Amino acid sequence: MLIVENFKVGPLETNCYLIIDKKTQKAAIIDPGGISAELDKKIYSLGEENVNYILMTHGHFDHIRKATRYKKLTGAKLMIGVNEAEFTKNKKLNLCRIPMPPFEADVLLNDNDIISLGETKIKVMYTPGHTVGGVCFITEDFLFSGDTIMNGSIGRYDLETGDFNQMRESIKKILGLSKNYIIYPGHGDPTTLQEEKNLYLKNI
Ligand SMILES: [Zn+2]
Repeated sequence: MLIVENFKVGPLETNCYLIIDKKTQKAAIIDPGGISAELDKKIYSLGEENVNYILMTHGHFDHIRKATRYKKLTGAKLMIGVNEAEFTKNKKLNLCRIPMPPFEADVLLNDNDIISLGETKIKVMYTPGHTVGGVCFITEDFLFSGDTIMNGSIGRYDLETGDFNQMRESIKKILGLSKNYIIYPGHGDPTTLQEEKNLYLKNI
């Protein structure tokens, strides 16, 4: 059983998630684009050492800017898609206009990789288009979609390394999944796969 908690961070109100494997209390942070006092509190109550991973759906600054801060706090491993590795080091790619020291991820993720968080398995799914190395994280009933698909919309594909055709394929890939996942996007409210299917399938 997985617990999902949402914290709004940074000027773009990015959804940063803390996911906790209920039985073992092992946790991962998804997309720490800013600092949240509430998230910090939750981390302290869990025990910093229980946060094993910092997962990044993609490398835009509003999803990664405080990754190293949370790594320092917890000792968690930084993980990002292998094709996104440059984003953490390059402001032209991550679009950060405020201070953010370049950093390297500890683990570069491949399509279909499985990450074990306590007893929970998290699957990595490549979904390029918004950026070249963006991924979704899928676990139990949940799909963390970053800026690929959001409630009633899809992410931009006109930014550096963005690509409309890749985006189209990625959206198809997500909507083609058989389970009616709860989608937790990078911005805005959660949605479900079925709701998005009803909206988009006829248009792509
Ligand atoms: Zn983005």
